[in-house]
Amino acid sequence: MKRIGVLALQGAVREHVQKLESLGCEAVLVKQENDLEQLDGLVLPGGESTTIRKLLDRYELLEPIRTLAQQRLPMFGTCAGLILLAKELVNYMPHLAVMDVVVARNSYGRQIDSFEVKLDIPQIGEAIPAVFIRAPHIVSAGEGVDVLARHDGRIVLAKDNHLLGCSFHPELTSDTRILEYFVSSMV
Ligand code: GLN
Repeated sequence: MKRIGVLALQGAVREHVQKLESLGCEAVLVKQENDLEQLDGLVLPGGESTTIRKLLDRYELLEPIRTLAQQRLPMFGTCAGLILLAKELVNYMPHLAVMDVVVARNSYGRQIDSFEVKLDIPQIGEAIPAVFIRAPHIVSAGEGVDVLARHDGRIVLAKDNHLLGCSFHPELTSDTRILEYFVSSMV
């Protein structure tokens, strides 16, 4: 059984845990450094990246997670989790700085803070529901990065080797295909 950690400091933690369990994985809540032991993969959920960053510092998790990413532990960042992974952020200092993408926060303007679309993702499937909530987007991606999906011309899902990041919240719909892609083809 695959053991997948879910960073459990703030945000959509429970939804990821339920989805991982429904896919037959063991989900481990990560709140302190020893929770990171013997994981096969790690999910960084959506929430508020500045809050999650403060808590990562308080619980001394930033360096241990960065080290695991450098050791190629598969990681999946959704929304704020993508912001945490990005090597570069527009107008902000980066956090883990491990995924070769430049990310802009809150890219979708106030009047459409939240919306749902259906994405066709050739590597994963068709009409996959994607919920965007004050979502970031990937402004540019390095050479080794596979761009998996765009919405309105903007990159919203990308894979940098063992790191997967998306702008939206796949855990907030009943569709498990993106998480399944992470768990079965990357972990
Ligand atoms: N706007 C949030 C941030 O900047 C991300 C939103 C989300 O995770 N739904 O961290």
